[in-house]
Amino acid sequence: MQLKDQVAIITGGASQRGIGWATAKRFADEGARIVILDLDAKAAAEAARAIGPAHLGLACDVRDEAACRTAVQQVLETFGRLDILVNNAGVSQSHRLMDSTQADYDIVMDVSVRGAYNMSRAVVPHMRTRRQGAIVCMGSVAAQRGGGILGGPHYTAAKGAIQALAKAMARELAPDGIRANAIAPGMVDTELLVGKIDDAGKRRVAEGIPLGRLATASDIANACLFLASDQSAYITGLVLDVSGGMHIH
Ligand code: NAD
Repeated sequence: MQLKDQVAIITGGASQRGIGWATAKRFADEGARIVILDLDAKAAAEAARAIGPAHLGLACDVRDEAACRTAVQQVLETFGRLDILVNNAGVSQSHRLMDSTQADYDIVMDVSVRGAYNMSRAVVPHMRTRRQGAIVCMGSVAAQRGGGILGGPHYTAAKGAIQALAKAMARELAPDGIRANAIAPGMVDTELLVGKIDDAGKRRVAEGIPLGRLATASDIANACLFLASDQSAYITGLVLDVSGGMHIH
């Protein structure tokens, strides 16, 4: 049980096909108590219940700083501690540079970058007092390659920014015993792809991936567990590619 008694917040974990939920389930299997934060209270609560009765699901729009602080307060009142934050919430769009609008830019940047910034600022004071904590941010292979197959430039920029945020937090927070890392997933078959690519398109993408398939949500969850647990105790500021070789440094 790598996360026995630990408490983990996972943002954007309400979709049971998504990376966040798979990560929540993986962490729970390792003994963690889970808090899922997502836009819809009912969906978040159901997602937590689907993992087990000990877990919590709350509404929180990560773009809203006050909502993030309130959610963290509630977690501390309920569980008395907080060990792990996974900044997973994200919105993907495939519009090309000249086809996207200011509103597209705002939502994509705000959910990923402002959301991770808000949530990290909400958890750090508690983590600092305990001199321990692990933050994992969800980037993307899009940021690593200069554009994904589906993500537009604003999405790519958002994912590059969240990866850079993880690196900067790693450097700043290391003296407080807090580690921060990021994951750069390749293409993962979740709700995020719905309406953007069909099955034939996925097969074509898979043919171009060295490992010959798309990622599963649990491929990413396993990497998240590594970065959140003591298995990676001496790793901070890393962007870990989990892309089947889509990006090789
Ligand atoms: P998903 O759509 O299942 O998950 C995204 C979740 O974020 C949803 O549950 C959504 O409700 C939530 N969310 C959106 N706006 C929010 C807000 N303002 N506040 C709180 N929650 C909000 O898709 P997923 O594929 O599991 O994506 C999870 C993360 O992984 C995202 O950051 C995405 O950019 C990243 N990612 C996905 C892929 C992929 O191919 N699926 C690849 C690379 C990176």
